[in-house]
Amino acid sequence: MFRSLHMKLMLIMTLLIVSLMTVVGAFLVNSVSGFYMDQFYSQMQEVFQNDTQFFHDLQNAAPGEENGAEQIGQMLDTYTGNLGIDASTRNYYVLDGSTGSYLCGSSQEAEALPMTHNLSAALAGEVGDESDVSAPYMDVAIPVERGGVEYVIYIKDNKQTVQNLNSELITLILESLAFGLAISVLLSFLLSKTLITPIERLTEGAEEVAAGDFSHKLHVESRDEIGVLTATFNSMAEQLQNTIQEVENERNKLGTLFLHMTDGVVAFDRRGELIQSNPAAEEMLGRSLPIGGEVDYETLFGDISPLDAVLEPGQKGYLEASREQGGRSLELLLAPFDKDHQAGVLVVIHDVTEQHKTEEMRKEFVANVSHELRTPLTNIHSYAETLVDNAGDLPPDTEKNFLNVILSESDRMAHIVQDLLTLSRFDSGRSELNLTAFSFSEAIESMVNANRMEARRHGHTLTVSLEPGLPDIVGDRERLTQVMMNVVSNSIKYTPDGGRIEVSAGRMGTDKVWLEVADNGIGIPEQDRGRIFERFYRVDKARSRESGGTGLGLSIAKEIVDRHQGEIKIVDRDTPGLTIRVELWVEGPRHGRA
Ligand code: ADP
Repeated sequence: MFRSLHMKLMLIMTLLIVSLMTVVGAFLVNSVSGFYMDQFYSQMQEVFQNDTQFFHDLQNAAPGEENGAEQIGQMLDTYTGNLGIDASTRNYYVLDGSTGSYLCGSSQEAEALPMTHNLSAALAGEVGDESDVSAPYMDVAIPVERGGVEYVIYIKDNKQTVQNLNSELITLILESLAFGLAISVLLSFLLSKTLITPIERLTEGAEEVAAGDFSHKLHVESRDEIGVLTATFNSMAEQLQNTIQEVENERNKLGTLFLHMTDGVVAFDRRGELIQSNPAAEEMLGRSLPIGGEVDYETLFGDISPLDAVLEPGQKGYLEASREQGGRSLELLLAPFDKDHQAGVLVVIHDVTEQHKTEEMRKEFVANVSHELRTPLTNIHSYAETLVDNAGDLPPDTEKNFLNVILSESDRMAHIVQDLLTLSRFDSGRSELNLTAFSFSEAIESMVNANRMEARRHGHTLTVSLEPGLPDIVGDRERLTQVMMNVVSNSIKYTPDGGRIEVSAGRMGTDKVWLEVADNGIGIPEQDRGRIFERFYRVDKARSRESGGTGLGLSIAKEIVDRHQGEIKIVDRDTPGLTIRVELWVEGPRHGRA
């Protein structure tokens, strides 16, 4: 009920006022009663002192006086002012000194007076003037002897005056209390406005912050402690927001990293249930990995190592494994995270298929190079050996023949080495293109002219058809001529004598040009088409070698066209033979273009 500060404040103020008023009231009532009582006894003492004339006259009877009590009564009547006699609250009584019976008095009603302590003292001859705070009256009894007769003057006050005064006081106090309570309500209202309202606002603000809403700033209204608290709260909320923002950014960064990283990551809790995975992991493992689904550690990696062994991986801190899955070579790293609490296991999956492929290719390449160089070397060696062994015995024609073979084999070796050097320059990025603008049609014409002799030697028909108005293009003229030469000389080589070779070129839209070299030669079987741009790849090794090929021509052509951001490909045609198409940008290679 009194949970709100406002109510507590009201309660405290009410209790304060009530207790204050009670204490003040009790003190006042007590003081008034005490004062009244003191006054009563000092009045009595003043009048009935032994040495006063009045007291003396009281005891001095005229000779032969018979009505002593009445005389005393009349004398007392003259002293009513001094004695404070007022008939209703304070009266005097003249009593018989030996029996205590009533003789006369100020009260009309001769009441039966109760035998009080003071009265019995007076009847015994002593002055009875002891006060009794608890008694509902005040009294004084004085024994008097007049004309040889014993009397007792008894003054009794029924405390009516003091009771009236006290009840008035109590009424006043109650009124003050009511007034005080009204003030307390008002004060607590004002206090709640100045003190509790800002606290309530702070509470609302704290609730909003707790709910994650940092947008509202609390207004600092005062410079007191609450103002300082509000300002501190604002800066705390701001700091909290910044920290949360930072954490959020960090989390987003990690989330994005996690989502887009090329390595697969799968996390399990300590019971082996999946708690996190990224798309790369799903792709590598070839299955979807829903969180909270059926898939757990045991199903995915149970064959590699039991979960307990990964949670306690020993000195190294992690386990390594490799696995072939869905045509991929995977390397796995299994490690516990948050070791002390054994929160779970993280599995990082690295796809090394490409690496393995590259390694294979590298090995194959080295084997090819060795093979390609060894063949001419063996030939040179054997012919040279024959010449040395039979020096002077061989007919000059045979000798010349042998020497020619040695020459052509060494040329072939030089050719291979030259091609390898060109490729290696491309690979290492040391080969810069020498870009210039040149006439595409002119470059084609001169390249075709350079091949005419060779074509004619094989009885081929070599035709050129160029779209009119071919533009100048930007590129490395020498290198692009090398590409075209290679393609055309391949057609000459791989087309049986008397064949037809057509070179055509045109424009693609506004920004590209194309060149096609089509022959009606032996063509390339379907299964080899995808590989002819690979280094040392030849469809018919014997035939290629016979015709002086190295198996590197088209791979060099592809490197050059790639550097120009162009395209070189086989065109699918139903007709026999092979058509190679090259596409190039008129503007040449440019940054920002794939
Ligand atoms: P090579 O020096 O052996 O000619 P290339 O890289 O130029 O090497 O060509 C790769 C292979 O592609 C050749 O060995 C040949 O088998 C095949 N090839 C190239 N051009 C043609 C063509 N016009 N007709 C048939 N096969 C071809």
